[in-house]
Amino acid sequence: MSSLADSDLLHVWETMRRQTLPRRAAALLAVATPGMTNAQLAGMSLGERERRLLDLHARCFGARLSCVADCVECGETFEFELDARTLSSGWPTPAEVAQPLSIEAQDLHIDISLPTVADSIVASDEHDAAHAYRTLLQRCLVCTTQSGDPVAPEALPPALLQEAAARMESADPAAELLISMPCPACEAVLTEPLDLAAFCWAEVEARAPRLLAEVHALASHYGWSEADILAMSRVRRDAYLEMVSS
Ligand SMILES: [Zn+2]
Repeated sequence: MSSLADSDLLHVWETMRRQTLPRRAAALLAVATPGMTNAQLAGMSLGERERRLLDLHARCFGARLSCVADCVECGETFEFELDARTLSSGWPTPAEVAQPLSIEAQDLHIDISLPTVADSIVASDEHDAAHAYRTLLQRCLVCTTQSGDPVAPEALPPALLQEAAARMESADPAAELLISMPCPACEAVLTEPLDLAAFCWAEVEARAPRLLAEVHALASHYGWSEADILAMSRVRRDAYLEMVSS
């Protein structure tokens, strides 16, 4: 995976501002991984997406992830930092004895496929969480009775849906990362989801206006094009910016 060129970062920021986080994540990975085909990206597991987003964050935005959490016990809001290298070294791996991705129970046969980048994008385009959940079920579970009649996944008994979710989690445990952190006020242990797409996008949103301000300063002063300014090395651009501001 290469780093993100400033022109690519601005392009993703401009085109993905009004899109969902899964679409933003896919756009960032696409520009950061030029050799990857659209089909490879679409079929990528969510655990692999998270691993690549963590790598992208460390390369392009630094290894520190600044987090804010609200304690559910005492209401305290507190800030803490995570280190991408520490997260990476403790990365969850699939269970050694993988459970089969199919279930036979109660006259039903259920084939499970792990959610992919494409699945997350389609689900995120739904207008609410209930529809998103149903879409994911329909894309990832294929159910029939033993006599071959199709069964809608959303009509499955809750226990079987939980079993399917558990199989998915053990096969791709990094798909939904959770972090645990003690509250500094009451010491309750908080468990929060860690959404790396949100971390990466926050960095994009912070950096894009700074890049535009640099282009504005240099273009106004020297008349250079946006493309030429963005293609300059950081060292050279900073040197010109210093001359313009002095
Ligand atoms: Zn607390």
